[in-house]
Amino acid sequence: MLIDVIYVEREARDYPKTDEVLARFAQARVIECERHGALFNRAGQNFRLQKNRPALMLAVKHGRTVLPAPAEYGLGKNNYYFSHMLNCLYDCRYCFLQGLYRSANYVLYVNYADFAGSIREHADRHPDGAWFYSGYDCDSLALEPVTGFADAFVPLFASLPNASLELRTKSTQVRSLLSREPLDNVVVAFSFTTRPAGDALEHKVPDPQRRIDAMAALQQHGWPVGVRFDPIIYHEGFDDSFAMLCERVFSRVDAARLHSVCLGAFRLPRDFFKRMRRLYPRERLFSQHLENTDGMIGYRRDLETALLDGAYDRLTQYVPTAAIRRMDGVA
Ligand code: SF4
Repeated sequence: MLIDVIYVEREARDYPKTDEVLARFAQARVIECERHGALFNRAGQNFRLQKNRPALMLAVKHGRTVLPAPAEYGLGKNNYYFSHMLNCLYDCRYCFLQGLYRSANYVLYVNYADFAGSIREHADRHPDGAWFYSGYDCDSLALEPVTGFADAFVPLFASLPNASLELRTKSTQVRSLLSREPLDNVVVAFSFTTRPAGDALEHKVPDPQRRIDAMAALQQHGWPVGVRFDPIIYHEGFDDSFAMLCERVFSRVDAARLHSVCLGAFRLPRDFFKRMRRLYPRERLFSQHLENTDGMIGYRRDLETALLDGAYDRLTQYVPTAAIRRMDGVA
């Protein structure tokens, strides 16, 4: 990973994580700033251009560090997300972060202890169980060598047996997890799309086989792992490609021991969709088979149902139905 410019909030200067990161990118130009938000949210930035060479911003997260997860996100009944980072190393054309943020620069919040304190507080409110998701505004593990995120947060969950953490990723950065004892309440969830969709839309993402190997290694080490076929992207020959993907995944991973498998269709809030289409006006994904349902842009209902039905049926050949979750709520 190449970083030419690092913005450091004055307040972030005093945190050990800041020193660690600056030492790692000793060649980068360091610019001190008062508040990262003024730069990150500045009007007139071009996400697509910035994505070619994002800067890194080291900042302190103020206000609420843990938030209720969106309804479609949850695996359990008390669902929260937290974002130690904004934006992602990878460049998936369907990624909603392109519609959510004006800037493609990475933000890393260095006050990990504040996040940990808030996670503990929220977990204490739910003795009957709570889920925490770290992969909403970034890929949970892609920048692990820089952020040390899993190294810092996984041990927290060892002391919170009533809480669970989902690390969602398209990366192969599992070394830090393989070097520690697995925890039953930390699930590493790997996202996959079919080969044609991945080739066309997932830029800079590690090869699927390497990700499958990483997932198998974690499972053999004793970590609970999950699979996320989300978003399901339509293309000609989808059913055959999905069958091939299942064969590849489940020939390496023990399906009977999977924590969970989730299926979700491509779907975006309309405003995000409009911004993304402005960034990539020639992208076919944004112009075919879509409709607007109550402010959400997704595939035509009949197509979405057919895609999810087909994928669900295929999955039942490998995975116990109790472990499969359709994000459209049908199963
Ligand atoms: S890996 Fe996830 S967070 Fe990263 S660009 Fe792709 S969809 Fe977005």
